[in-house]
Amino acid sequence: MKILVLMKQTFDTEEEIFLVDGKLKESGVKYVINPYDEYAVEQAILLKEQQGAEVTVVSAGPARAEEALRTAVAVGADNAILIDDESLNGDEYTISKVLAAIAQKESYDLILAGHMSVDDGAAQIGPRVAELLGIPHISTITGLTIDGQTARAEKDVEGDLETIEVQLPALLTAQQGLNEPRYPTLPGIMKAKKKPIERVTAADLGIDVAAIGSKTETLTLNLPQKKSGGRILEGELHEQTAELVNLLRNEAKVV
Ligand SMILES: Cc1cc2nc3c(=O)[nH]c(=O)nc-3n(C[C@H](O)[C@H](O)[C@H](O)COP(=O)(O)OP(=O)(O)OC[C@H]3O[C@@H](n4cnc5c(N)ncnc54)[C@H](O)[C@@H]3O)c2cc1C
Repeated sequence: MKILVLMKQTFDTEEEIFLVDGKLKESGVKYVINPYDEYAVEQAILLKEQQGAEVTVVSAGPARAEEALRTAVAVGADNAILIDDESLNGDEYTISKVLAAIAQKESYDLILAGHMSVDDGAAQIGPRVAELLGIPHISTITGLTIDGQTARAEKDVEGDLETIEVQLPALLTAQQGLNEPRYPTLPGIMKAKKKPIERVTAADLGIDVAAIGSKTETLTLNLPQKKSGGRILEGELHEQTAELVNLLRNEAKVV
């Protein structure tokens, strides 16, 4: 079985976000594999261990994304591809076209991705790539078994469990709870350091960059407004109610 995992490098979720001149401050920031993509990588490695599989991980991003790919190799991925081309830095429309082009280079039985990235968080790439490839897609899976050419996935639906079967090839996106991602071991890290990473550009993929430009434009980035502390009203119930109405009218000006 050949498995492709789509993975994005994102800010560590512990990092504090700063904006400088309206742009994200990226220097001095720790980057990690997008947490939902860790579940996708882990699921691919589990399938490799259980049934035998060749696992390829791919990321479209700046040069620093190589670090995330090496982490995936350290936990067991066999091949890593970095789509390393500044001219491809676009939105979900652009990136899904590029990832679909990569997927079409080989015949993968299974494509795994995170259901969303924790930074841009569009949750679009999985469904878009599946649509471009013309293959079935199941989102936010929390369980998976593969039996021959049949994938049986479980997903949480408002507290109930839904089981969906599709024929491979298919694209599935991972939700928290799918598995427990492992940590890389020291020998794994050492091996990953020596692993050649395949670097691919738009030209290598036969892509006309002008034809897949972003369909969206980010106008501004703003940090959430600082929240002021809550206020506890005191006194008898009728006094609290009167004060609450007063505050809603005269301070919050919402009634
Ligand atoms: C040269 C270059 C520079 C880039 N620089 C940045 C940057 O500085 N900051 C930034 O946030 N993005 C950057 N990108 C990536 C790109 O902007 C986003 O990946 C894309 O817009 C997807 O947006 P999303 O995170 O909302 O995806 P979502 O749809 O939320 O992602 C869902 C899933 O799709 C997969 N996926 C998403 N993006 C990628 C990807 N790039 N590669 C492989 N799999 C992916 C993951 O499995 C992810 O869990 C860069 C891309 C390139 C080519």
